[in-house]
Amino acid sequence: MRGLMYGEDMQRAAEHAHAAVASMAKYALPPIPVHYTVWYEYHIARNGALVSAVDALIDKGEVAPQAVQDIYAKHFTTDRRNNQQEMAERLERAIDQMRKLLGSAESNTRAYGDSLERFSDELGDAAGQGEVAGGLEQTSTDITSLIGSILEETRDMQQRNSALESKLAETNAEVAQLRESFEQVRREAMTDMLTGLANRKSFADALHRMTAMARDGGTPLSLLMLDIDHFKRFNDIHGHQTGDTVLQLVGRMLADNTKGQDMAARYGGEEFAVLLPMTGLEQAEGLAETIRRSIAGRKLVKRSSGEDIGRIGISVGVAQFNPGESLEEFVLRADKALYVAKSAGRGRVVADRRHQS
Ligand code: GH3
Ligand code: MG
Ligand code: MG
Repeated sequence: MRGLMYGEDMQRAAEHAHAAVASMAKYALPPIPVHYTVWYEYHIARNGALVSAVDALIDKGEVAPQAVQDIYAKHFTTDRRNNQQEMAERLERAIDQMRKLLGSAESNTRAYGDSLERFSDELGDAAGQGEVAGGLEQTSTDITSLIGSILEETRDMQQRNSALESKLAETNAEVAQLRESFEQVRREAMTDMLTGLANRKSFADALHRMTAMARDGGTPLSLLMLDIDHFKRFNDIHGHQTGDTVLQLVGRMLADNTKGQDMAARYGGEEFAVLLPMTGLEQAEGLAETIRRSIAGRKLVKRSSGEDIGRIGISVGVAQFNPGESLEEFVLRADKALYVAKSAGRGRVVADRRHQS
């Protein structure tokens, strides 16, 4: 990067930085680079869309790490795009190179074939001369020199081919590495960075795929919606950083309790969703209860101080997919069951039985 990133003079840049840090502290926003980037940008007020997004959070009193990280993802993701573009260009170059190499391999082989044909003609001529003139010595000299030429041509051909081969191998390695990078970018785009679970986008993809499968195959599909109880209070008391480690713990518990085709995702801030193919309502309810208990049973200890910070509870809504309903209705029923669990006192599992097949 050249010079000052934002082109301000030192004095003003420092003022903005102070203002940004002070206001981050005011909103108890952990001072990590992602949050700072958004806050600094907010204070220099250069990007109108970003300013409105942050203003909206402040107005609603919803300044929280996830929300700020969402803003970051929306306004500062050019790196990933540039990366993808660069990779696409590299791939294009590699393919082009490959095409050229294969093209020259073909013309090499063709030229070699032509030479062989010419030698074969000359060989015939020489043999003919031998018969007519009886000049056996002359003929054998001709043949010897022809063989020498063929050998030389073959060696050339081999050399050209092995140069081509090593170039092809290089290009192959480049393509393999690119494929790896593409795969990594794809994985990252589908993953929630904090918990390592699937993110909202891949949950939506899986929901489409799995409901179609359930409809076509007539197999059951269930959905759990989980929400941490009184998490705002937990954050207020113990800090967002500790809150984040709780989110990671819940993520691990969900990963541990699901298997095979099940998909556990982070749905939003402190909300999670689990899709359970080939699973009916009762069984899903049982799993939800197992997960709820194992989370509630964990005694939490603050990493930095070793301080005992009690336990956290979760509420869960469960629904089984009804092939006649839309995806939105399906999710809404699980959401409503979750809401019922919250109103009934939290720390419990509620299943929606209205559409059970
Ligand atoms: P309820 O029992 O009704 O669910 O209460 P709640 O406080 O959990 O629910 P509410 O929706 O009022 O607040 C959710 C809180 O979750 C607010 C926010 O501080 C916290 N939160 C959301 N995302 C994150 C995150 O990424 N990290 C941390 N530490 N906290 C988060
Ligand atoms: Mg909650
Ligand atoms: Mg919530």
